[in-house]
Amino acid sequence: MSTPTGLGPYDDTNILARILRGEIPSKRVYEDAWALAFHDIAPQAATHVLVIPRGRYASMADFTADATDQEIVGFFRAVGHVARTLGLEKAGYRALANVGAHAGQEVAHLHVHLFGGEGLGKMIAVPGRAT
Ligand code: AMP
Repeated sequence: MSTPTGLGPYDDTNILARILRGEIPSKRVYEDAWALAFHDIAPQAATHVLVIPRGRYASMADFTADATDQEIVGFFRAVGHVARTLGLEKAGYRALANVGAHAGQEVAHLHVHLFGGEGLGKMIAVPGRAT
């Protein structure tokens, strides 16, 4: 089945699926029945962690349409738990999920980026657009 964001059918060989299966190493910070969290390989902030669901969802689009209530609750509780246990709540953090082409999503397995550990600047910078 294709996803609503034009990403095509879920591809089990995507890099995050391979990390979930333990085929590729990752610096894990948390895991439970619904989610896995690990450090991004190319951090864009002092702290940059990815939180991914265990289910086969390409993006937030098919996850919010097709996942069970348990999967959705379990996943978002894990996102909050990871931010808390990384100590990001007091100073604040950014949770971001790229969905599809306009957002520049590179890997077609839903992932929420958690950025923190320093001031993060403007929320969105569109290349070439004056703000
Ligand atoms: P996005 O552009 O939202 O699809 O983000 C994909 C993210 O996956 C990027 O921030 C990459 O740095 C990250 N990434 C790619 N490969 C790995 C890997 N092997 N381990 C950890 N993070 C990765």
